[in-house]
Amino acid sequence: GLSADSYRHRHDITVTGDNVPQPFTSFEATGFPSEILREVYQAGFSAPTPIQAQSWPIALQGSDVVAIAKTGSGKTLGYLIPGFTHIKQRCNNPKLGPTVLVLSPTRELATQIQDEAVKFGKSSKISCTCLYGGAPKGPQLRDVDRGVDIVVATPGRLNDILEMRRISLRQVSYLVLDEADRMLDMGFEPQIRKIVKEVPTSRQTLMYTATWPKEVRKIAADLLVRPVQINMGNVD
Ligand code: ADP
Ligand code: MG
Repeated sequence: GLSADSYRHRHDITVTGDNVPQPFTSFEATGFPSEILREVYQAGFSAPTPIQAQSWPIALQGSDVVAIAKTGSGKTLGYLIPGFTHIKQRCNNPKLGPTVLVLSPTRELATQIQDEAVKFGKSSKISCTCLYGGAPKGPQLRDVDRGVDIVVATPGRLNDILEMRRISLRQVSYLVLDEADRMLDMGFEPQIRKIVKEVPTSRQTLMYTATWPKEVRKIAADLLVRPVQINMGNVD
């Protein structure tokens, strides 16, 4: 409608794909459970960021998503909160493996994502752990064995743990590739492809990237199915 178009125009957002829903221009419009709304208000947020306004309804309707947006636009909660809803709907046993998998290029970024997942997901009883290199595997494997809803991982470490057969990705049905361009720049493409082979194809896949070069387009074309694409700013 006109208001959706004017919202997108005002925030320099272009959305392409099938069944593009109206953006959620307020937190009330999201229909998120009250414990989540309480967390966002407690954090001092007054409205969804433009990328959240547009990616939340798309993620909630189950579509694959490609979002091209610069850093600082609020992408993390853009995929995490619909991930919480997804977890609640699935009712999986976390001991059999995570339901949500987030791949991230570095330990630092993976830790930040986990912090955000814990902060906003705790009141919804969402559990999360982080797998990254340069630290002992023992404690990380203990968390996996205890069972978590969300695993945030760097591709190298997750691939090592998969090769040890110490984690199953058969329950993953919501897969996020965060900072996809950076993961490819760092040479993680072979590990990403091996990991994704372990995730059932019936999954929902979301890809977030700051740039949109041909290597990223290629992996998006291979791993996502009819994604809705959100472009923010002057990225073609
Ligand atoms: P990106 O991944 O796009 O670089 P982040 O997800 O790291 O951005 O978010 C950047 C900052 O904005 C974080 O500190 C985050 O807590 C904050 N933030 C997220 N959503 C909102 C919101 N709706 N309103 C205000 N700040 C927000
Ligand atoms: Mg980010």
